[in-house]
Amino acid sequence: AHPNLYAALRAAFPDDLDTIAVETDDGLRYRWRDLERGSAMIANLFASLDLPRGARILVQTDKSVEALMLYLATLRAGHVHVPLNTAYQQDELAYFIEDAQPSVVVCAGRNFSAISKLAFSRGTAHVFTLNEDRSGSLLERASHMSDQHAVVEPGDDELAVILYTSGTTGRSKGAMLTHGNMLSNALTLKAYWDWQPDDVLIHALPIFHIHGLFVAIHGALLSGSKMIWLPRFDPQRVIEHLPQATVFMGVPTLYVRLLAEPGLTHEACRSMRLFISGSAPLRLDTFEAFRDRTGHTILERYGMSETVMLTSNPCKPADGERRGGTVGRPLPGVQVRVTDAKTGAPCPANEIGGIEVRGPNVFAGYWRMPEKTREEFTADGWFKTGDVGRFDAEGYLTIVGRSKDLVISGGYNVYPAEVEGYLNEMDGVAESAVIGVPHPDFGEAVVAVVVPKPGVELAEGPMIAALKDRIAGFKVPKRVFFDAELPRNAMGKVQKALLREQHQRLFA
Ligand code: ATP
Ligand code: MG
Repeated sequence: AHPNLYAALRAAFPDDLDTIAVETDDGLRYRWRDLERGSAMIANLFASLDLPRGARILVQTDKSVEALMLYLATLRAGHVHVPLNTAYQQDELAYFIEDAQPSVVVCAGRNFSAISKLAFSRGTAHVFTLNEDRSGSLLERASHMSDQHAVVEPGDDELAVILYTSGTTGRSKGAMLTHGNMLSNALTLKAYWDWQPDDVLIHALPIFHIHGLFVAIHGALLSGSKMIWLPRFDPQRVIEHLPQATVFMGVPTLYVRLLAEPGLTHEACRSMRLFISGSAPLRLDTFEAFRDRTGHTILERYGMSETVMLTSNPCKPADGERRGGTVGRPLPGVQVRVTDAKTGAPCPANEIGGIEVRGPNVFAGYWRMPEKTREEFTADGWFKTGDVGRFDAEGYLTIVGRSKDLVISGGYNVYPAEVEGYLNEMDGVAESAVIGVPHPDFGEAVVAVVVPKPGVELAEGPMIAALKDRIAGFKVPKRVFFDAELPRNAMGKVQKALLREQHQRLFA
C-alpha cells in the first residue's frame, strides 16, 4: 500500500518545526509546526462531522495558506479534495456540486448565500466559509479542535483528489487521482529537478489547478523548502522577491508579463536556480528573450490533470540541454509514446502522432464517467492524452496541438499550431488561432483569427499571399479574421470550440 500523501510530505518537514515554511507577500510567517497543527485541527473538525472515508470536500476559496492547510487536512483525513477555479460562477458551480456530490463545501464568505443554496438543495450537509483574511466559519470551528491527529492510511486505490480539467476541449471532467499517483510524481520531480532543503520557491500560481497545487506545493513540501507565497501574480512583487528565492514556476503568460518589466535583469535573478514553465505552449521568442534578459534558460515541462507531469526538459546539465520549443523527455518511470492515429503503431522519430502515456502517475479514471474512461485508454492500457506531438531523434517531445483541433482539409492533415507559428512570426501579429470549419469541397477549411499588435492595421489579402510563399497551399487559411482578443477559458487557454462555432457557416 502507498503511504498517505500527507504522511510522506510530513516526513520531509525539517527536524526543527519552528523554522519558517511559508512567508506571505504581506509579511506573515508560518512555521512547519503551523502547517502540521492547522491541518490536524481541520482534520479533527471533519472527524467531528462523522464524514465517511472518501467524502468529497469541495473548495472554492481565495488563495491563502489556510486553504493550503485545508488541502493537507483533507489528505490526512482520507477525504477527497475537489478544488475549483475561483472564476467559476453559478451555472458552473451547480454542475460541479451536482457532479461531485460533496459532503462539505468551503467557499468565500461573499459567496456563502448563493453557494449554500446550491449545495444544500443538492444534498451537501455542511457549508463553511474561509476568507483571504483568515476569517470565516471553517477556522472558527476548527479552532476548538485538538491539534493532535493520526494520519489515515489510504487503501491502494483510494482517491486523494478529484481535479476537474480546464474545460478547453469541452465540459470539464473530474480526474480521479490517488495518493499513489501524486506521490510517485512528486518523488520523481524532486529528484529530476534536484529540489534541496535550501531552495526557496516563489509561489505565485493559483492553487485550484495541478500546476500551483501539485507541481509547486508538493515540490516545496517534499523537500522541506520554504515558499514565498503571493496571493496572486504581480510581476513587480515577483521581481522584488527574486533575490531571496531559487525556484519560480509560471504559465507562459507570466513570463511574458515578467519580460515587460524593466526590473527583470541578470542582477535580479542572481540567486535563482530554476525557472519552470508549463500548462500551455511557451513561445520560442519568449524562451529566447528570457535567456537574453536574465541569463536563465526556462525549463519547459508538460503534464495534465489526468497524469500529473509527463515530460520535462533536463534540469541538471548531466541530463542534457534544455531545448526551447520542446517539452523535454519522458520523466523517469513514466512511459510516453507517439502513435499513428490510424494504425495505432508507434511513430518513428520526427513523425507526428497521438501522445499516449503509462505509469504510476496515470489517474484512476474520470469521476462518474466509466464510458469516457474506457474510451480514453487503449486495449494495452495506455492513456490517450488527446495531445498530438512528435519525438526528435534525441527523444525530446514537441507538442503540435490537440487531436480535437486537427484540421483535415481535402484529405490533408493540418496542425493548427504549425500555421499559428508562421502567423505569429509576421510583423504586427500579437497572437493567432487556427481552426477548421465545415466546407462543401474540402470537408474542412482552414481559417485563422489574428490579434494585431496594438495600433497595427493588418489586411487579409497580403497575409494570405505571404503565407502561400512559405507553406503548402492546403495549410494556408482560406480566410483570416481580425479580433482584439482570443476567447479564453478560466485557465487562460484559447477556446477553439467557441471560434469554430462562430465561423461554422462561413462556407455553408
Ligand atoms: P480539457 O481536458 O477539459 O479539455 P485541458 O486539457 O486544458 O482541458 P488541463 O488538464 O488543465 O485541462 O491541461 C492539460 C493540457 O494542457 C495538456 O493536455 C496540454 O494540451 C496542455 N499543456 C500542458 N503543458 C503544456 C506545455 N508545456 N506545452 C503545451 N501544452 C501544454
Ligand atoms: Mg485535457
